[in-house]
Amino acid sequence: MADLGNIGRTLQVLDKYNFNFRKNYGQNFLIDDHILNKIVDAAGITKDDLVLEIGPGIGTMTQYLCERAGKVIAVEIDSSLIPILKDTLSAYDNVTVINEDILKVDIRKLSDEQNGGKPIKVVANLPYYITTPIVMGLFESHVPLKSITVMVQKEVAERMQTGPGSKDYGALSLAVAYYSKAKVVATVSPSCFIPKPNVESSVIHMEVYDTPPVTVEDEAFLFAVIRACFNQRRKTLVNSLSNAGNLHVSKEQIRLAIEEMGKPETIRGETFTLEEFATLSNLLKKILAKQVTL
Ligand code: SAM
Repeated sequence: MADLGNIGRTLQVLDKYNFNFRKNYGQNFLIDDHILNKIVDAAGITKDDLVLEIGPGIGTMTQYLCERAGKVIAVEIDSSLIPILKDTLSAYDNVTVINEDILKVDIRKLSDEQNGGKPIKVVANLPYYITTPIVMGLFESHVPLKSITVMVQKEVAERMQTGPGSKDYGALSLAVAYYSKAKVVATVSPSCFIPKPNVESSVIHMEVYDTPPVTVEDEAFLFAVIRACFNQRRKTLVNSLSNAGNLHVSKEQIRLAIEEMGKPETIRGETFTLEEFATLSNLLKKILAKQVTL
């Protein structure tokens, strides 16, 4: 029975192990049973699922996941939490704890070995200092994924869901839109954690598409174009893309593509929708293939 979703039991465990929070690991542990159930409900976990949990902490959400999932793999960087997890998860035989930095784990290999390559679900109360590399890494590595349900900083959830015209619009928003259908399922106050973070949080559920909503010839090139554009977001597309060392496109080639799209030469990429970025990257690929140099 999950027993860690409250402050009393959590303090008992922290005290028993004389645990010291490590701020640099983004350690804010959940102490709210209602929110924990909401996260696991939003993820739609069933006994058919293999769940990857990033950063189990003392095992609070892990307990809830173990009760609903077929199997849980929990990856925790802080070795001082490993003996605690052994204790708090001792009642469950469907969990494997890995003491590793999630950014160094070969998740594709893990899913092949543990789930026969079938799509897995990721559920986490993420360490906020590496939210973007974790989410982008999951998407771009093409690990077979059904969904990602994560607690993130409220502002990051807003960036994940926004479109052109917002200052929060960027590469993360476009990656989320390209790979998934996203929905914020809860906003969470600092008082639901120990210690309290300085920011509000949101739970975002991303249902990963089988096929992305736009067709691109070269996905890596699309995201290279998007990154180049937002690295210099106040510049025109012609300047930001031609300045990017990795794209190898000339100003004239970019002008040609923009003209073909019926857009003015002075346009900035931050005004482009996902569909327009897809069209632009396909046109640039075509122009590059023809080696149209003017
Ligand atoms: N899941 C727990 C909960 O909800 O109470 C803890 C969440 S806490 C916000 C983030 C957890 O991620 C911490 O346990 C922290 O040690 C761990 N963590 C931080 N960086 C990590 C990394 N690179 N790889 C794996 N775990 C990490």
